[in-house]
Amino acid sequence: MSTRLCPVCQNPLQRGLYAWHLTCAHCHYEGSVLEPVINSSPAHELIDESKREAGLKTLRTRNFQTVLSRIKALKKQGSRLLEVGCAHGWFLDLARQDFDVTGIEPDHQLLERLDKSLPVRHGYFPQALNEGETFDIIVFNDVIEHIPDIRMTLDTCHRHMNEGGLLVLNLPNSNGIFYRQARWLAQHSVQGPFNRLWQKDLPSPHVHYFNPTNLEGLLDMQGFSLIERGRLPTLVLKGLHARIALVKGLGPLTQQAAYVAILLALPMLRLLPGDIFYCLAQQQSD
Ligand SMILES: [Zn+2]
Repeated sequence: MSTRLCPVCQNPLQRGLYAWHLTCAHCHYEGSVLEPVINSSPAHELIDESKREAGLKTLRTRNFQTVLSRIKALKKQGSRLLEVGCAHGWFLDLARQDFDVTGIEPDHQLLERLDKSLPVRHGYFPQALNEGETFDIIVFNDVIEHIPDIRMTLDTCHRHMNEGGLLVLNLPNSNGIFYRQARWLAQHSVQGPFNRLWQKDLPSPHVHYFNPTNLEGLLDMQGFSLIERGRLPTLVLKGLHARIALVKGLGPLTQQAAYVAILLALPMLRLLPGDIFYCLAQQQSD
């Protein structure tokens, strides 16, 4: 296998905790060679889609409202907004109250379940767009960490942005407390939580794990200036049971124990580094 380079600082990546896990000693970027398997995988069967929806909707909707309020502070009503990988359409549904929205979603199964009144195209970014089509805001909610060639994707955003366009990313944080715990456990031979956070063996594994500092470096290099960033909660009580039940194969006792452990830890978790963060970055002028 040829040596992979860090997308942030271009230093050669080193083997991490497993053969599929890579780290950059210089900027602490982490990557993986896990392959996305959208539309073609028995991995879909591991997830019960309806449980997945119930478990995530409360949390995601609340986080999307936070991010949208920040976008609204920067971009005027009626601006053209593109969401890449709009999944269940929850963000677009909120955003269309203020913006002229378009979504792109490659996964057939998700697309079939979408509200048909949402303007969503089937396909990948940027192939699903018309040549020369431009937007004021491009949003990636839990998507950018799944895209192998992230530098090319950010370059492509420039081509499809109006001047001064706003890039919005919402993604996992390698400084987050759950991630650090999982990494510590993996160093001590407990692989489960680490695999789960990378979404190993699930339909769409993560190929990147950034922290706020190295992501800002990447954005700057790719022609985007960070305007603001913030943390987003990873857990709310409503829907927690369903999220724990997400992956088949956990026994009821294990599920119950996990629920109680998280319940007890919630007040403390709010004080520790968050596991999801968002960034708003403005396109730099040429
Ligand atoms: Zn690096």
